Amino acid sequence: MEYAYDDQNIFAKILRGEIPNKTVFENDHALAFHDIQPQAPVHVLVIPKGPYMSLDHFARDGSAEEQAGFFGAIAAVCDLVGVEQGFRGISNTRAHGVQDVPHYHMHIIGGKQLGRMLAD
Ligand code: AMP
Repeated sequence: MEYAYDDQNIFAKILRGEIPNKTVFENDHALAFHDIQPQAPVHVLVIPKGPYMSLDHFARDGSAEEQAGFFGAIAAVCDLVGVEQGFRGISNTRAHGVQDVPHYHMHIIGGKQLGRMLAD
């Protein structure tokens, strides 16, 4: 599997400060911000700062420090946004997974009772 990262994607522009975002949390390796079209009362996106396209790309090629920073950011977001009763973490991946933005991101979705995992 070859990963050809496109640095013109919208999250790359957010990381470069070219597009604003509503930041929830940031550390050296990750940024978390509110989704622009929330699907639930809590809908935060957590992204690594490095040029990774997808969950499998980040899992394969992200350094231990980048991966620790990313998961640390997820833990911080969970503390900050009030998802004690649960949430769903989703990483849509490429065509079959219906991924729109080709920079790896984890959706943190919650704040209400969610339905079953897959609609189809
Ligand atoms: P996905 O389909 O998993 O790639 O999800 C991409 C997500 O990015 C969608 O939920 C969009 O609403 C969200 N999104 C797109 N542009 C922005 C933006 N400028 N700021 C915040 N979220 C965005």
